[in-house]
Amino acid sequence: MFDTLSDRLTSVLQNLRGKGKLSDADIDATAREIRIALLEADVALPVVREFISHIKERAKGEEVSQALNPAQQVIKIVNEELVAILGGETRRLNLAKNPPTVIMLAGLQGSGKTTLAGKLATWLKKQGHAPLLVACDLQRPNAVTQLQVVGERAGVATFAPEPGNGVGDPVDVAKRSIEEAKHAQHDVVVVDTAGRLGVDEELMRQAADIRDAVEPDETLFVVDAMIGQDAVTTAEAFRDGVGFTGVVLTKLDGDARGGAALSVRQVTGEPILFASNGEKLEDFDVFHPDRMASRILGMGDMLTLIEQAEQAFDQEKAEQAAAKLGTGDLTLEDFLEQMLAVRKMGPIGNLLGMLPGAGQMKDQLSQVDDKQLDRLQAIIRGMTPDERANPKLINASRRQRIARGSGVAVREVNDLVNRFYDARKMMQQMAGRFGFGGGSATKK
Ligand code: GDP
Repeated sequence: MFDTLSDRLTSVLQNLRGKGKLSDADIDATAREIRIALLEADVALPVVREFISHIKERAKGEEVSQALNPAQQVIKIVNEELVAILGGETRRLNLAKNPPTVIMLAGLQGSGKTTLAGKLATWLKKQGHAPLLVACDLQRPNAVTQLQVVGERAGVATFAPEPGNGVGDPVDVAKRSIEEAKHAQHDVVVVDTAGRLGVDEELMRQAADIRDAVEPDETLFVVDAMIGQDAVTTAEAFRDGVGFTGVVLTKLDGDARGGAALSVRQVTGEPILFASNGEKLEDFDVFHPDRMASRILGMGDMLTLIEQAEQAFDQEKAEQAAAKLGTGDLTLEDFLEQMLAVRKMGPIGNLLGMLPGAGQMKDQLSQVDDKQLDRLQAIIRGMTPDERANPKLINASRRQRIARGSGVAVREVNDLVNRFYDARKMMQQMAGRFGFGGGSATKK
């Protein structure tokens, strides 16, 4: 998601670098290119117009003419305006003062509501809540079972109509679920509702009836970010028909252009609370407008990466490794440990995509897969502790021994050692840029 947009914006802004003063013509040209990039990414026209007019106004004003580095100032403005259209501040979930908090999910069929219910439950559980999932999608065959399966995977309770009692009334199920939540001390209720393939009146009426019955603290409109411009019209229909307090974008892992994500907030005026980016229960994050903006601008999403890392890494070991990054003292042993920790964080491609400058390294990154990591791991395991601590020891005959022992070609051992040196160098440079780790001398 956002790859093309990100590439385009990065290159437009890169063209500004190195320029001293910016003329009005420079700014107009830049604004024009940003406009094309946004339109090609499927961002809704009114949103593009407003965005461009803000950029131009600010870039032509004193803010830029008095800046020491005008180009950087323009990048800063674009970043701030992107954050603004994505909603500004991170909007947290509203929890009721008197539990249970009721969260209702609404959206088209296939938008990812049921999957989201499981993700939300997993996330809420991690925060110490005791969620109850409620199956109010009684239209689609299997929807109830699907929610029950998701609930089981998430390890949370599900409330559903008794089988064999006909189709059942979703409004009645919703009402009874609140009683059940109070009775069984669930402090958050997540109500999954029915969706249609397209917007229709019956769907809206049913959702509105459920809403009236349970008076949700949050009604989340779930929208598939891959449906492009339709996302905006669907969002407007749901806003008018049911009303919602927040948006959840799903399928952000897809390779669509992502304009929906950039338009929905601005068009509906309601904030994006969460982003869903995969089929697994863990592929889910709180939506941070600032982080998303820096990701789009190719500045990486270091904060999300750091948060995920904090969960997966052994704090002490990670700090030791971080301290070594800057000095170039990283050993193959550290490399292996970090690699194993990284594996715990999810598919490697997702992680690397969050690194600054990753946009430009895409070709290389797409070649890194989890199987390759397994091979690297086998090679490092085939080394002696001395060799891991001091890779310089690994001469030609040792390389042959390692290759034999780990069942790979000598070439692969060579590749690994070279890549280790490259990585060490790159990490040192990053340590310099982001201000972690010690010294700045480059070691090879
Ligand atoms: P519902 O009809 O709104 O309840 O949608 P579902 O939860 O059944 O999701 C529809 C399909 O989209 C399923 O195949 C899900 O596995 C898939 N899906 C849901 N969320 C995501 C996501 O974030 N990324 C991807 N790639 N697939 C998703």
